[in-house]
Amino acid sequence: MKILITGGAGFIGSHLAEYLLAQGNHVFVIDDLSTGAIENIVHLKENPRFHYTIDTIMNIQAAAELVDRCDLVYHLAAAVGVRLIVESPVRTIETNIRGTEIILELANKKKKKVVIASTSEVYGKASKVPFKETDDLVLGPTDKGRWSYACSKAIDEFLALAYWHEKKLPVVVVRLFNTVGPRQTGQYGMVLPNFVRQALLGQPITVFGDGTQSRCFTYVSDVVRVLADLGQRPEAIGEIFNVGSDEEVTILDLAQRVKALSASSSDIQLVPYNEAYGSGFEDMQRRVPDISKVRRLTGFCPTYGLDQIIEAIIEYERPRLRGEIERG
Ligand code: UDP
Repeated sequence: MKILITGGAGFIGSHLAEYLLAQGNHVFVIDDLSTGAIENIVHLKENPRFHYTIDTIMNIQAAAELVDRCDLVYHLAAAVGVRLIVESPVRTIETNIRGTEIILELANKKKKKVVIASTSEVYGKASKVPFKETDDLVLGPTDKGRWSYACSKAIDEFLALAYWHEKKLPVVVVRLFNTVGPRQTGQYGMVLPNFVRQALLGQPITVFGDGTQSRCFTYVSDVVRVLADLGQRPEAIGEIFNVGSDEEVTILDLAQRVKALSASSSDIQLVPYNEAYGSGFEDMQRRVPDISKVRRLTGFCPTYGLDQIIEAIIEYERPRLRGEIERG
């Protein structure tokens, strides 16, 4: 099969490319390297079934050619990461909404199936856990920039489902919950690469707020396996799926586990949200997926537990930080 991955040089996209290649597919990647990196895909360049284009999906001609050549599209290109969202809201909103509009419009010409990567962020600050696909979305006010991400992805979902209902374009919407693993950068705010880096460098591990907020972390290889599976199942078309682990951990506990597993001497430091993200920042207290729907259809069951995930990230980061560790 010929498969296009938008954002394929990003963290999740590059792992998905690897997995789909290993299954024998031809993989086409388009990425503007805004948050992705060429290092994420260099090892794939040798593979004759791998093709990449460094360009933005806003370049309609480039995107159109690729969509035309492929049978299936994974739309992962997006502005993600709380820090990026807070610092560059215009880019977040425009990239996420316009980019998805373009991909859906192009795919619709020859009814190419599109799997849209959405996010658990769309549940917003809903307090009923676990989150089920049919639950209400509870977003904060528009003067709090963080919610622009959830809102932009919710519009993407509405649009994708509208294409399905109105134009019979086959789409699948996947809400990803805190996916982590090698190649994820801490640059845009993601907690686990930041904690591991801080622990390995002996710097304070910065827990924002009081650390009682919780998340469920899913290892990227578990995520890409189910993404690949959902792309092949006719029953998934027109549906929304939560994808994530249901092992919940508070951020303070996460910091303690990172510290212990890396045998770090770092202090754990509580940082008020306004110092981390500016005044008026709102966080979600708990975020836990109900994964019964995806489990029913695909048998999805995350194979990596949290400690294993943390260990894998430590193992990945340690050699990369060696120079900095030695310089102290
Ligand atoms: N967080 C933290 N320290 C950091 C980065 C993030 O305590 O250096 C917290 C953040 O406030 C949130 C949680 O960790 O409560 C997860 O943050 P992330 O940005 O990884 O994902 P999201 O907020 O989208 O779940």
